[in-house]
Amino acid sequence: MATSPRRKKGRSHKRVPKRIIFLDIDGVLNCSHTPNPRKLPYIVDKRLLARFRKLVARTGAGVVLSSSWRIDPVGCLAARYWGIPFIDVSPDMPRSPRSAEIRRWLRAHPAVKRFVIIDDEDDGLDELPLFQPSRAGLTMPLVRGIEAYLKGATDRTMRANRLKRLAQHAIGFFERNKD
Ligand SMILES: [Mg+2]
Repeated sequence: MATSPRRKKGRSHKRVPKRIIFLDIDGVLNCSHTPNPRKLPYIVDKRLLARFRKLVARTGAGVVLSSSWRIDPVGCLAARYWGIPFIDVSPDMPRSPRSAEIRRWLRAHPAVKRFVIIDDEDDGLDELPLFQPSRAGLTMPLVRGIEAYLKGATDRTMRANRLKRLAQHAIGFFERNKD
């Protein structure tokens, strides 16, 4: 009689895709233009989410949440509610930068061949393949760059440079002080 396969203790048999996207949410799937009249936390911009879901479908990538949403059970529920397609979350290491959490996840999943990080901030991520949205969240040029990178067509990453960040801060300052 055939026996059903059993899991060996302590070994994960969960298959992990060869391509991984580490996803920050605030500033990526929402931005300053996202409608949020009640100033609620855990808001997603449906337009940006649709763009992201298409990217995931086209690349076959697995999504690992690196966003601080993952630390809060309400944040995790919200991510599921919005339909963010994630398969795992990076470990929570409160005394370490986000890059260390991502590196630890990668060490535990050596079969991953290609990965990107989408994050509007740079928490020790400079050494890693970072795609960094500016004020508009996940734009189409970023989506195209990420797709090309994950498919191995290029090693070019896309991050806001120092000058651009300074310019953004200046624009933000003038916008806040317009009236
Ligand atoms: Mg962010």
